[in-house]
Amino acid sequence: MRFASLGSGSEGNGLVVEAGGTCVLIDCGFGVRDTVARLLRLGLAPESVAAILVTHEHSDHIGGVPAVARKYGIPVWATFGTLVAVSARFEGMSRIYGFDSHDAFAIGDLEIRPVAVPHDAREPVQYVIGDGAVRLGVLTDLGVITAHVESSMSGCDALVLECNHDLGMLERGSYPYPLKQRIAGRLGHLHNEAAAGLVARIDTARLKHLVAAHLSQENNTPELARAALAEALGCATDWIGIASQDEGFGWRQL
Ligand SMILES: [Zn+2]
Ligand SMILES: [Zn+2]
Repeated sequence: MRFASLGSGSEGNGLVVEAGGTCVLIDCGFGVRDTVARLLRLGLAPESVAAILVTHEHSDHIGGVPAVARKYGIPVWATFGTLVAVSARFEGMSRIYGFDSHDAFAIGDLEIRPVAVPHDAREPVQYVIGDGAVRLGVLTDLGVITAHVESSMSGCDALVLECNHDLGMLERGSYPYPLKQRIAGRLGHLHNEAAAGLVARIDTARLKHLVAAHLSQENNTPELARAALAEALGCATDWIGIASQDEGFGWRQL
């Protein structure tokens, strides 16, 4: 199995996972031309994407989904709650599949396990994706870590984990107070220490990749995110990957 990021952050998200002959795209927050360019960077043609898995209806995750799916005839999977929230934008599209956030399903060679998360959307999920041998946990856009999230991410072989903000930088920063409250709230985004706390509590014996994702360009730095996760894992800071807004990250192999 291998995985890579098209880009990560409030300006747009996309992550590809490939195993056997199956490649899926988790979220697509970029326009058609931008998405195609970012896929090409990874050596992928849009036609090779078997499905787009949506996490939730915020535009940095779903913004490009209708146009890309329509143009290349890609099936889209989203929770029933997300589909209710975006029914107008998905109107007239044929291959749209709903699922309950508690139910696992398969796409080709990949086993897709949704993980319900606390976030200010209708029925938001994140994903654990496996091929029968290894598992990748993708976890961004959640305000707090629940027991369910913790047990779902435990024992994974790779983790892409939200390090949205540094609490001190957010508090001192220029965002208006209501926005600060939203980001730091229980339905907002994970700060570095919360992400580090998860890493310290779960089983990381099999962990081969840990990538910090969805970093705020305003309220965080790659150095702070790396330092927090490295301390929790007891590894060197340069072992921690960063999913950046412009570049995402290149293929990582499991
Ligand atoms: Zn987001
Ligand atoms: Zn969101």
